[in-house]
Amino acid sequence: MLNIKDLTVRVSDKEILNKFNLSINDGEIHVLMGKNGIGKSTLCKVLLKSPEYEITNGSINYNNQDITQLKTNEVSNLGFYLIGQSPLAIEGVTTASMLRTVLSARGDKTNILKFGKELDATCEKLGLPKSYAHKEINVGMSGGERKKLELVQMWMLKPGFIILDEIDSGLDVDALKVVSKSLKEYYDLYHPTILMVTHHSMILKELKPDFVHIIGDGKIIKTGDYNLALEIEDRGFNNLDKASIVSGQEDNE
Ligand code: ADP
Ligand code: MG
Repeated sequence: MLNIKDLTVRVSDKEILNKFNLSINDGEIHVLMGKNGIGKSTLCKVLLKSPEYEITNGSINYNNQDITQLKTNEVSNLGFYLIGQSPLAIEGVTTASMLRTVLSARGDKTNILKFGKELDATCEKLGLPKSYAHKEINVGMSGGERKKLELVQMWMLKPGFIILDEIDSGLDVDALKVVSKSLKEYYDLYHPTILMVTHHSMILKELKPDFVHIIGDGKIIKTGDYNLALEIEDRGFNNLDKASIVSGQEDNE
């Protein structure tokens, strides 16, 4: 279980999250929505311990361990995995060698042939040429190809807590179908916990969320189910049913 309590986060002297609270039980799918620039990506990156964000108050607990001060590699080893809004290209290291290094550092003893076969099969399932996994990470790839390659990494690393920051942005309709189905297949197989940011309900048709949260003013101002995502898509953030907006924290334990 993830428990974010009174989390306050600053970047470049600006407070983005202010006493943010959220609890997520294992295996649940939570969706974060909110206007541009409100702090959705900030929360995703803070969970993966991006060093530019400063936590000035509050705590993050995962399975009864205080992970507030952990480093990115440490939370990654606990099973956290983020597919960011715009995956970066990393020159000089291939996706295959990076994955092999991470897996062996985690004590995985899979032999290289089996690893290679699994990697090839995963690329094929996502409609990527096998050769892509042997290129430098995301170098020369389109936005959609990058998102698929990040999914290849997910399948190989088998994380238990997945954060998807607008995985649907930059994907054409066909790619979106492939990506949604792949995520659903992974969810049905491993039952990870998922926190996802999206502006569209399309991916949510495949990956049915347990909760949909709206962020405003540094914290969650409204929590609902799938229908809330549909309401936002239909009416926008400014026309939300004002009476139902809470100023404090939603408790969904
Ligand atoms: P969202 O994902 O909800 O669109 P972000 O979390 O990316 O919003 O950004 C929230 C606010 O924090 C924005 O005003 C953005 O400009 C600012 N911000 C985010 N990251 C940085 C950074 N590294 N340096 C300076 N400002 C940042
Ligand atoms: Mg964002």
